[in-house]
Amino acid sequence: MTCKLCRGNKGLCDSHVLPEFVWKPIYDQKHRIEEVTSLHKQMRILQKGLRERLLCPDCEQYLNDNYEKYFVDVWYEKGLAPTNMAQDCVCVSGLDYARFKLFNLSILWRAGVSTLEQFKEVSLGKHEEILRSMIQNRDPGPEHQYGILAYALTSPQTGEVCQEIVTAPTRTYFQDSHVGYDFIFGGFLWRYLVNQETARYFLRLLFKPSGKLLIIRLNIDEYKPIMSMMKNRINKGWEEEE
Ligand SMILES: [Zn+2]
Repeated sequence: MTCKLCRGNKGLCDSHVLPEFVWKPIYDQKHRIEEVTSLHKQMRILQKGLRERLLCPDCEQYLNDNYEKYFVDVWYEKGLAPTNMAQDCVCVSGLDYARFKLFNLSILWRAGVSTLEQFKEVSLGKHEEILRSMIQNRDPGPEHQYGILAYALTSPQTGEVCQEIVTAPTRTYFQDSHVGYDFIFGGFLWRYLVNQETARYFLRLLFKPSGKLLIIRLNIDEYKPIMSMMKNRINKGWEEEE
């Protein structure tokens, strides 16, 4: 079988499509159970353990050493991810643009090459090869190429970030067009904009080559795969963050 990343003809690992650690909750709180249950109606919650033969052992190791370890280190262990959002947005700085972005793009790409039913909404077309090459060559591209938006999914009552939710990825729409994909893991909605025009429109909110990530609060009951909620905010701008 052919490895999806290096295209070598090697034995393939029975890999997790999404890395196992994305299910790692930092803590578990009972009062969130009701909120999460109501989410089931609009989101497809993913259980642990979705595996598929996609990668050879070398590529599995490559993704782990270069991208996944870095994400685990900054997001969970160094605690750069906010666990509570009292305000509408916060800016996290000091991230390694290439590693952080390519970790996210590797998630998008893996979901795209997966044949599992849970990832069927992700259909990358020509982007599959572009992403494969960027991941293999450690090339994160400019901020508007597969631009990344980050929303903290919070409890409407307490502002706590709901770390334990992982959902099946869905398509994102802007002005009635399909422009990207939404993934939920690590307490965040990660919005990957495959459409560059849309990414340019939201340029000020995208993850920056300077390593700055703007995190927007989103109460979990307000989640929609449509970007209209951004309109007012983009006009207002984020002067205080610059
Ligand atoms: Zn490989």
